[in-house]
Amino acid sequence: MKIAIIGAGAMGSLFGGRLALAGEEVWLLDVWEEHVRTIGDKGLSIATTAGDIVARPRATTKAGEIGPAELVIIFVKSTATAQAAATARTLLGPDTAVLTLQNGYGNAETIAAAVGADRVIAGTTAQGATLLGPGRIMHGGSGETHIGELGGGITARLEKIAACLTRAGIATVADGNVASLIWGKLIVNVGINALTGITGLKNGELADHEETRQVLALAVEEAVKVADAAGVALPYANPVEKVLGIAVATAQNRSSMLQDLSGGRKTEIEAINGALVREGERLGVATPVNQVLTLLIKALEKLPRTNH
Ligand code: NAD
Repeated sequence: MKIAIIGAGAMGSLFGGRLALAGEEVWLLDVWEEHVRTIGDKGLSIATTAGDIVARPRATTKAGEIGPAELVIIFVKSTATAQAAATARTLLGPDTAVLTLQNGYGNAETIAAAVGADRVIAGTTAQGATLLGPGRIMHGGSGETHIGELGGGITARLEKIAACLTRAGIATVADGNVASLIWGKLIVNVGINALTGITGLKNGELADHEETRQVLALAVEEAVKVADAAGVALPYANPVEKVLGIAVATAQNRSSMLQDLSGGRKTEIEAINGALVREGERLGVATPVNQVLTLLIKALEKLPRTNH
């Protein structure tokens, strides 16, 4: 399958590297020139628990070099989704599907506005990766990836893409209810990301303090009310327990929001707690806790790194 990946950072490189190693025709497209040049010169190095692997996907900064792809995967941070979706438009053939496994709420809708909703496949992944430097990433945890059509149902192309990812070592399930998947992951990120960003705690440490457990529970309970108002059935019972359980299971992780703040980068807050606040406003559900978390992260984004 000819696959173009827009945003070849930690996750785009992990998926692209694995797919290239499985024999797919992979093109990585990124705005980061040094990274693209290094992959072209030396290949993409993936550090795994079983040692380093080198994959050789094609890599470019110019979408015009790629031509139409059968599958486009968008793996930029949600702050760059609109730009990446505009780029995806230039890679479309008659049957191109565009997949997003980004965190947050609203990415699929932004992509659908650019390429048409019938092309969009969305989902979640429990794979984890970290960017180590130009041309080098580390594969963190593995876990299932779930993908679904925006319009629902299991289609032949959905099963084909799930099989292609699974063959590449990324275990993937074709799922009929994408809204449930996305909200399920969104609520986990709503509970963990902003709170770790603000406190500087690792994920597991949120469970060690009564105060952080309480804020996590309040943020998650609000999110569940918004999901209910949106008519979404979550993929798990007891959301607060579920989110605390994930915080403990990923105890040593510094969340991406915490890493973005300490790296002086813009965070994905607008696609996580911020998106929840906007959905709450649309549906008439008050979300004061998530509003405060969003404002605090936005304030921290403006401060010098030494202050957090
Ligand atoms: P990252 O910052 O490592 O990579 C993003 C890449 O996109 C960068 O290389 C950047 O140069 C590139 N980019 C930015 N704008 C671009 C544009 N307009 N065109 C092309 N490339 C562009 O981010 P990541 O950690 O790989 O995360 C990507 C998404 O996956 C996020 O939504 C994140 O929340 C989600 N996610 C990450 C993990 C993880 O473990 N890292 C796990 C699950 C989900």
